[in-house]
Amino acid sequence: MPKESSTINPFETAKQQVDIVAQIIGLNGGVLEVLKHPKRELTVYFPVRMDDGTFRVFTGHRVQYNMARGPTKGGIRFHPQVTLDEVRALAAWMTWKCAVVNIPYGGAKGGVVCDPKAMSRGEIERLTRRYASEISPIIGPEMDIPAPDVYTDSQTMAWIMDTYSMQKGYSVPGVVTGKPIPLGGSEGRGEATGRGCAYVIREAAKDAGVRVKGGKVAVQGFGNAGSVAAKILHDEQGATIVAVSDSKGGIFKADGLNPHAVEEHKKKTGTVLGFPGAKPISNEEILEAKVDILVPAALENQITARNAPRIEAKMVAEAANGPTLPEADTILFQKKITVLPDILANAGGVTVSYFEWAQDLQRFFWPLAEVNQRLERVMVKSYADVRKTAVEHEVHNRTAAYILAIQRVVDAIRLRGIYP
Ligand code: NAD
Repeated sequence: MPKESSTINPFETAKQQVDIVAQIIGLNGGVLEVLKHPKRELTVYFPVRMDDGTFRVFTGHRVQYNMARGPTKGGIRFHPQVTLDEVRALAAWMTWKCAVVNIPYGGAKGGVVCDPKAMSRGEIERLTRRYASEISPIIGPEMDIPAPDVYTDSQTMAWIMDTYSMQKGYSVPGVVTGKPIPLGGSEGRGEATGRGCAYVIREAAKDAGVRVKGGKVAVQGFGNAGSVAAKILHDEQGATIVAVSDSKGGIFKADGLNPHAVEEHKKKTGTVLGFPGAKPISNEEILEAKVDILVPAALENQITARNAPRIEAKMVAEAANGPTLPEADTILFQKKITVLPDILANAGGVTVSYFEWAQDLQRFFWPLAEVNQRLERVMVKSYADVRKTAVEHEVHNRTAAYILAIQRVVDAIRLRGIYP
């Protein structure tokens, strides 16, 4: 799932991916056209009062890509480079991600063109509330359920929930997920992406003959997804975390890092660098480290045709979205490296978002152990489904995940039929 760069239109990429799968599963005609178009798009231009008393007009989008399998689901991004085509692509990818893990959702995405780093908290709150108000005709617990994405968080979701609820006249916690727990957030949502990734690694390692217990792991990007994956692989699966990194650089320790201690160090100093007893390593070195499992958990476009031939890991588990470029995929496949694609490996986050929504609708909240057990069941089954598809079609796991997802969406479209 490569994201937009100066030369790549992400929506063109998303449509090409659909075409590739269509060829494999013999899909053409009207259904293929449906899969290559968003169902509904809303662009809004709205004024926000700034702290200095002036107001500025901002542009926001919400794209609901496909709702054949249920209400649409996907994050809201606040970023200066948001474009409609990027939002369309992200909405398409959410459609496939929800289908891979077989949760009853379609895909959506939203974005506002803004630079939250240059805005005050009050300005961001007013922007969030006005955007929520502008898109409120097309969101709702039965229709489209936003969540956090780049530069939005649980506070943003609290504001959206409140704005929507004020318009309705009663509290509607199920309109967004990723909320703070006191407002109807779920236990376990914060660590769901990393935890889900660790479950998929465990299952895939059995098939691929890759060692997890006592095996060496490198994690690029020691943030939410990466640090949780590292802690669970270390604590619950007995892996040795030999290298981790963040935007400032990486650290390596041959006999293993304690990820909890590294987290404490990062909390205190703002970076993993300088962790006692570890030596600094570069971004290239972490990607090319001689490890059993590499977990890219930072940015897109990290594994390229240039460095793929030098990847030594036996397994690459994509906690990040889009870390591997398509040409690198082929190289990894030829090298018999097991790739766990993003739409599977990081789908734990949207899975527990689904649990959050289900709990909100029931007004009945589950303990953490129950959330984690249910997450484990979903991830184990989804990995098995992807693997089976890969073997059946003799393709790599990424193509298999797309085949599985797109086939599920196509089945729903065909069963529903074309209205009227
Ligand atoms: P985050 O901001 O918590 O963590 C990102 C980490 O990557 C930070 O530690 C940052 O310092 C590091 N980083 C940035 N640039 C780097 C570089 N050049 N080299 C090494 N490290 C670098 O974000 P997150 O929520 O953990 O998201 C990480 C990835 O996981 C993203 O691709 C995101 O889309 C994906 N993801 C996250 C979730 C989720 O629930 N958090 C769900 C699905 C996918």
